[in-house]
Order: sequence, then structure tokens, then C-alpha cells
Amino acid sequence: MTDVPYEDWRARAAGLVPHTGHHIDGAFQDGPETTPVVAPRDGRTIAHVASAGTAQVDGAVAAARRAFDTGPWPRLAPAERKAALLRWADLVERDRETLALLVSLEMGKPITDAYGIELRALIGCLRWYAEAADKQLDESPRGSASSLALVTREPVGVVGAVVPWNFPLTMAAWKIAPALATGCTVVLKPAEESPLSALHLAALGTEAGLPPGVFNVVNGPGEVAGRALGEHPGVDVLAFTGSTEVGRHFLRYAAASNLKRVWLELGGKSPNIILPDAPDLDAAADTAAWGIFFNAGEMCSAPSRLLVHRSVADRVLDRIVARAESLRVGDPLDPATEMGPLVSTAHQARVMEHIEAARASGARLRAGGGVDGRFLAPTVFDQVKPEMRVAREEIFGPVLAVLEFDDLDEAVTLANDTEYGLAAAVWTSDLSTAHRVSRALRAGTVWVNCYEEGDMSVPFGGVKQSGHGRDKSLHALDKYTDLKTTWIEL
Ligand code: NAD
Repeated sequence: MTDVPYEDWRARAAGLVPHTGHHIDGAFQDGPETTPVVAPRDGRTIAHVASAGTAQVDGAVAAARRAFDTGPWPRLAPAERKAALLRWADLVERDRETLALLVSLEMGKPITDAYGIELRALIGCLRWYAEAADKQLDESPRGSASSLALVTREPVGVVGAVVPWNFPLTMAAWKIAPALATGCTVVLKPAEESPLSALHLAALGTEAGLPPGVFNVVNGPGEVAGRALGEHPGVDVLAFTGSTEVGRHFLRYAAASNLKRVWLELGGKSPNIILPDAPDLDAAADTAAWGIFFNAGEMCSAPSRLLVHRSVADRVLDRIVARAESLRVGDPLDPATEMGPLVSTAHQARVMEHIEAARASGARLRAGGGVDGRFLAPTVFDQVKPEMRVAREEIFGPVLAVLEFDDLDEAVTLANDTEYGLAAAVWTSDLSTAHRVSRALRAGTVWVNCYEEGDMSVPFGGVKQSGHGRDKSLHALDKYTDLKTTWIEL
């Protein structure tokens, strides 16, 4: 963990000179326009970044296409790809403070979390898929005596990756690392809010020896650069993380162009069920509070619906409210800050609109509910009814909706009463209850007596309108490979 003091982080931030071009074919490129990147901590413009039109996207896809069709990358021995990815991870480790600072500045994540959580996730992900690269085995099914069958995994080709700003490096790495490990080439489009960390990552990839065109970054608005990637005939697979609404666009882009495969990691409204026999009710309450306020609630998997048994609701809620009121909200560059600003004033206004709607619909405000300049207070509503917007819509902010229940069946019904299915949790001391509830919940991940736990070995993704396909784990490699059958008569 970093022990760099507040003053030093601010001094380093002032001295940073970020990359601002697109990264195409191993080099930075300007044009045709620029857009400002605004730091949520103080509203200042920290850089003007090149913004792509379709010509830059065409250039990036052509570079990735050349690198895939005729370049060395897909033809390297997997162990050589592994070595390049490990070199890249080492350089990320070398520049860990710079990358953490870029993340904190561009999207407002507390520096302690940027350095400790986001950068650890990025480095871990690169190393994990580097190690996986040379451990994949093909199949040879037992055929007849006079034939030999081979089932081999082939890299799909050019991967377009479009990602959000809330974990700008982790979300990108979950796509880039498995795609590159299999021999694919990649064009990444970061969110408008968070291009700087992605551009630094690209520069380090080139320094690590990734051949030109293997990893490209184009910046720009979703409706222009994201759409151009989604519709591009030269892109074989489009891997998207973001809102459910934009996910729908990508399915349309694919249908209207080359029927590229589209993988979607979308939004959530995840239920967190606390039963009276939770092994430690205080720990359950503290984790519920941490889960919704971590990253200012800008988490697809945030436990934004707390379902708590009526018999323990007061005790749990009092503790969550106390935590909400004691949370250190402030400048993300202060290492003591636990929650920073939301990503933008526009997003803050959207979250405030949800808070007003919750109040108007009759939910009771127990904590927060207001803003102080660029900072929104950790907010808790109880007496929430399942039909209220605060119980149904993804807010993507530090706003907890608390619903009470009387029995387990009611809890499961409430938990599944959502169009989303990303994650869920249950707190209980009873093993059978844990398994029964886990089976009954429609979600990509179910945590028992914890939240947001896991490592690279387990898949992450959703069901229902939270998307499909899985990031992380060996299963993510399936997204970037096709199976080829070769049948040989002997
Ligand atoms: P967003 O959908 O607005 O944007 C995501 C990306 O899509 C950005 O790069 C954006 O430029 C691009 N985009 C926007 N409009 C586009 C269009 N019309 N065509 C093509 N591309 C377009 O999401 P956001 O506000 O950046 O992030 C928040 C959302 O991301 C939340 O819904 C959250 O739940 C989701 N998310 C999901 C996961 C997951 O793993 N399931 C992880 C993190 C965030």
C-alpha cells in the first residue's frame, strides 16, 4: 500500500504530463479534434485529448487487422506472448503511482483505492492471463482407427473493447489480457471521462515490446468512436462493459454490420440479504455500508438493495447510518479519503434526481441526501417498497435502498424481482440455507457472508439484462477463441 503523503500526491499531480493522442500502430497520433478531460475533484481541465472520428477508428482497426493477419503476434509461441505480457505487467508496476494518479484525477477514485485496489487488479490480471497463455491445451477426440480428429482453439481476430470510467483500467484489462493471451489484437475505446490512464497503459505496452498494431487506443464520444467500432466490418468480436442501454446499441450495430460476436457486461441492482442468523450482524452491516459507498457507489455490482429481516432491521440500519455519517468524503488525492466526488457534475445531477424521486415516492431518508459542492453525501433510504424507482433502477451512486422482509421465500422473491442479475449476497450461519438461497437467486455471482470477494480464477458477469459472457477466469478465453475442427483420414 502507498504511504505517499497528501502533499506529495498533489505535487505529483501538478507535475504530470499525460499522453493525449490516440495510440495507433505503436505510436501516438492526434486529431481530428480534442476534448477536455475534467478532474471531478475540482472541475479543472487536466488535459485536452484527441477525439476520434471514423477515420481514426478505421486506422486503428486497419493496424489491428494487419497485426493479426500478417504480424508476428498470433504466430508467436504462447510462451513468447506470455513473456511480453509479463514485461508489460512489470512496467505497470514500475509506473504504479503515475497510473493510480491518472485514475484518481480523471474519475475521482480515492488515491488509496486507485493505488491499492485498481492497480493491484490490473497488474494481477495481466500476470494471470500471461501465465494462462502457455497452459492451454487443444483436444484430440478418439476417432476411428483410420482417422485423427483435432479440435483447436483459434484466436478470433480483431477485438474491439469499449469500457466505462468507474474502473477504467480493471475493466479494460479484463478484456485486453485474455484477448492478447490467445493471440488476438485489440482496439480499446475508453470512456470519454477516463482516457488518460488507458493511454499511459498503451505506451507501456509498446515499451514492453508489443508489436505495432497489437494494442491500440482510440478516444472519443461513444456515439462516434464507440459506434464506429461496433459497426466496423474489420472487428470480429466486440467486448463491452457499460450500461444496459448502450449494450442494446451494440447488438444493433452487430446486426446491421458483420454479425460480429458481442459480449455484454452491463448494469445491476444487486440484492444483499441479511438473515437473523448471520454469523456476525455487525460485520454484515459494515460490509453492506462498505459495498454501497465504495467507489462512491459507481459499481455495477454494488449491493444497492439491502434486504434485511425485520427482526434485525433496526440494529443493522443504525450501524449503516452511523457508518454513512462517519465516512470521510473529500479530495481523492488525500490518502485518508474514503469516498471521493462522483465522476462529473452531470452524473451528480442524475443521482440527485433519483434521491428526490425516492423522497417523493415515500421512502424515508435516513442519511445523506444532499451535496456539498462536488461531493454527494452517502445516502440511505429505508421504508422502500419494491415498486419504487429507488428499488428498481440502477443509480450508480452512493445510495442504499433498504427493504424489510419477514421470511426467506419473501426475501428470495424480492431479490429476484429485478430486470438485472449481476450479483447477490446472503448472510446466514446455516449451510443449507446458504446453498438453497444461492440456487434460487438469478445472478452471475452469489456471495455468502461477504461481498465483492474473489480472485482472477472465478468468472464475473451477469444474467438477464446484466448481460452475458464472463470476464476473468479461464472461461474468458472462450470469448476470444473459436473452435476449429480438423479431421484427417490416415
Ligand atoms: P455507458 O454505457 O454510458 O458508457 C460505456 C462506454 O460506452 C463508454 O466508453 C462510452 O463512450 C461508450 N458509449 C456510450 N454511448 C455509446 C453508443 N451510443 N455507442 C457506442 N458506444 C457508446 O456507461 P458508463 O456511464 O461509462 O458506465 C456506467 C455503466 O457501466 C453502469 O450501467 C454500470 O453498471 C456499467 N458497468 C458494468 C460492469 C460489469 O462488469 N457488468 C462494470 C462496470 C460498469
